[in-house]
Amino acid sequence: MKDLKQTVKQWLETGKVDIFLGYRLVDGHPIPHGFSTDNLEELAGLVNSDSRYSLEKLATKISRRHPDSVIGMLARDCTQRALNVLAIWNQLPLENVKTLTVNCCPSPSKSHASCSYLEPEKPGANKIKFGLPLNSDVEETEVAGQDERFSRWMYEFQKCIKCYGCRNICPVCFCKDCSLENTDLVHSGRLPPDVPIFHLVRATHMAGRCIDCGLCEEACPMDIPLRLLYRKVNSIVSNVFDYDTGSSVDQSPFSVLGDKVTLEPKPLEKV
Ligand code: SF4
Ligand code: SF4
Ligand code: SF4
Repeated sequence: MKDLKQTVKQWLETGKVDIFLGYRLVDGHPIPHGFSTDNLEELAGLVNSDSRYSLEKLATKISRRHPDSVIGMLARDCTQRALNVLAIWNQLPLENVKTLTVNCCPSPSKSHASCSYLEPEKPGANKIKFGLPLNSDVEETEVAGQDERFSRWMYEFQKCIKCYGCRNICPVCFCKDCSLENTDLVHSGRLPPDVPIFHLVRATHMAGRCIDCGLCEEACPMDIPLRLLYRKVNSIVSNVFDYDTGSSVDQSPFSVLGDKVTLEPKPLEKV
């Protein structure tokens, strides 16, 4: 931990970064925090927390206000995938970010396919047998027939209290005007949420964008298996467009569409 603090101090003092995003222990709780030369004494509280927050989201907001700033941050594998997506979508230039890699949760693997956050967790307090288990595999859930899957997803969506926690925590939800607050689409400000449109709007937006960090599912107070939903839409993108979201800044979803895929209209079936 001493090395981490010393490295960040050096980065700040030498001007390598203008601000460093990490976690500061406050009353025993790791809180996302921006360290700078204005508050070097606060580095005493810098921790590499097992808790996670979307530091990339903070970086995107800082970069919008201060486009010339260089932002340092603690980074895990999923952070790098988020940064790649944000760069591809012109939200955060990679050259404005310096990452300090820390251990990827308790996972021994560097592959996000075996990220420890994908392992089964104990069911949440609001989970009953009818719903979908958190962290299930896409393939596992598709064994069930279409009707059963439909009713299980509808059950899950109906639990939503429209707190927007999933969107607010998501590192790649960066839109200034969010469709989830568009009155024509989802009756903004009204409860309960429109089911299933509220969730399907977000799911379509996550196709080719979600980097499978799992923060939305962790934030969801109703234990809705959001990660499974977005993994499903991403698996379609991956199968159809051969696009692995966030794996590289060189592969853009837009160029994939142009270069590799020819969408042939299917002939209409005779009735
Ligand atoms: S897992 Fe959830 S929070 Fe993470 S990128 Fe995907 S949608 Fe966003
Ligand atoms: S839910 Fe869709 S519109 Fe809203 S911030 Fe996320 S990507 Fe943008
Ligand atoms: S975090 Fe869960 S309960 Fe809140 S809006 Fe998202 S899906 Fe609904």
